[in-house]
Amino acid sequence: MAIESFNPFHMAQQQFDAVADKLGLDQATKDLLRNPDREYHFNIPIRMDDGSYKVFRGFRVQHSDARGPSKGGIRFHPQETVDTVRALAMWMTWKTACVDIPLGGGKGGVVCDPRNLSMREQEAICRGWIRQVARNIGPLQDVPAPDVMTSPQHMIWMMDEYEKITGIKAPGVITGKPIGIGGSLGRTEATGYGVIYCLRESLKNLGIDIKNTTASFQGFGNVSQYAIDLYTQLGGKAICVSCWDNQEKKSVTYRKFDGLNLKELLSVTNKFGEIDKSKAADLGYEILDGGDWIKQEVDILVPAAIENQINAETAPNIASTVKVIVEGANGPTTPEADEIIKSKNIHLIPDFLANAGGVTCSYFEQVQCNMNYFWSKEEVLEKLDTKMTNAYHAVYELSKEKNVYMRDAAYMISISRVAEAVKMRGWV
Ligand code: GLU
Repeated sequence: MAIESFNPFHMAQQQFDAVADKLGLDQATKDLLRNPDREYHFNIPIRMDDGSYKVFRGFRVQHSDARGPSKGGIRFHPQETVDTVRALAMWMTWKTACVDIPLGGGKGGVVCDPRNLSMREQEAICRGWIRQVARNIGPLQDVPAPDVMTSPQHMIWMMDEYEKITGIKAPGVITGKPIGIGGSLGRTEATGYGVIYCLRESLKNLGIDIKNTTASFQGFGNVSQYAIDLYTQLGGKAICVSCWDNQEKKSVTYRKFDGLNLKELLSVTNKFGEIDKSKAADLGYEILDGGDWIKQEVDILVPAAIENQINAETAPNIASTVKVIVEGANGPTTPEADEIIKSKNIHLIPDFLANAGGVTCSYFEQVQCNMNYFWSKEEVLEKLDTKMTNAYHAVYELSKEKNVYMRDAAYMISISRVAEAVKMRGWV
C-alpha cells in the first residue's frame, strides 16, 4: 500500500471485517460496529496573538457507548483527518473492551500544530473545542483525554470551560488532568509502563530474560519516554530511539550501543519533546536517518509514534534478530505488514492491548474523582499492572488455543464483548 493512499479508517474496518467474519457475527451487528455511532465536525474560530482570526477544524467521533460512556483522547495534529479520528475512536472501543473496563470508544481531534501556536492560542482552541461539544460529552456520556500533542494543561482548560458552561464541578468529564486538580498519580507513566508490563509478560512466555535483551523505539513522546524508563529499570538495554525534528521537518534516529540514558537525552530535549541533534552528538549519540529505528539488530521493536509506520515498504527492513514487536502507538502496523511479521515468526503485542495502560489509568482517575479520594502512585501502578498482565495473558492464551495471530486473538476478545453488549441491550 503506498503511503499516500493510506487510510486508517479503512484499515480499522478491514481488521474488524476479517475477525467479525471469523466470529460469525450477524449482518446488523457488523453494520453497527463497523461505523461510528455518531460524530461531530465543527469550526473553532480563534483570535490569534497578532490580532488576526483563524478557523481551526475540530472533530469528536463516538464509535460505541454500548459498554459505557465513550472514552478516548483528543489529538492536535497538522495532518489530522476525520478518517484518522474515526479509526482511533474504533480502536478505543476495542481497547476498553480488551482490558475489560466499563467504557466505550471515542476520539477527538483538531487540525493544528501546537508547536507553532502560543499557549494563549492553544488555550483558545481547547475552550473553543469544548464549546462545540459541551452538550454531547460529559462524565456519563463521553469522556475525552490527552493523546498526540495534548497535555494535562490542555485537559484542565477543557474541564474549566465545561464547568463554566454547565455551572457544576465535573472532574469526571475529562481525564489526564494535572495532579491536585483531579488528576491521578501514575497517569503520565501509565501508557508507557503498560507497554512494558505486556512486554515483560511476553518475554516470560518466550523464555527470554529481559536483562539479555536490546530494544529500539520509534518516537520520543510520553509513551516512548516512560516505556524506555521502565524497560531500562527492568534491566533491558534500549539502544535506539527516533524523534521528530521540527527544524528538518522529519524524524531523526539516535543510537548508542552502550544503551540510551533517558535522563541525559531529556536534558537536551526542548519543551516540544525534540532532541537537540548537536548536543546529542556531543553526548556520544550516533545520528541516523529517521527510518533507521526499524532496521536495528535488536530483540524488541517498540513503535510508539503514530499510525502506518510498519507497512509494506518498511516491514521487510526488520532484522532477523527481532523477536517481539510491542505497539505503543495506535495503528502503527498495516495489514500487509502483519503478513510479513507473521512470516518472520515475530511475537506481536497489538496496539489496543499494549497501549491500553493510558485509558485504564484514565478509568482509575474517574473512579478516584467520583469517590473524591485519591490513591498513592504505588496503588495506581499495582492495579494497572494487574489489569494489563491479566489482559495480556487472556489474549496470549486465546492465540495459543485457537492458533491465531495475537492481533486477531485480541480482536476476538474485544469484538465478542462489545457484540454481546449490543445484543443484551437489544440494539440489534
Ligand atoms: N489517548 C490515549 C489512548 O489512545 C488515552 C485515552 C484515554 O485515556 O481516554 O489510549
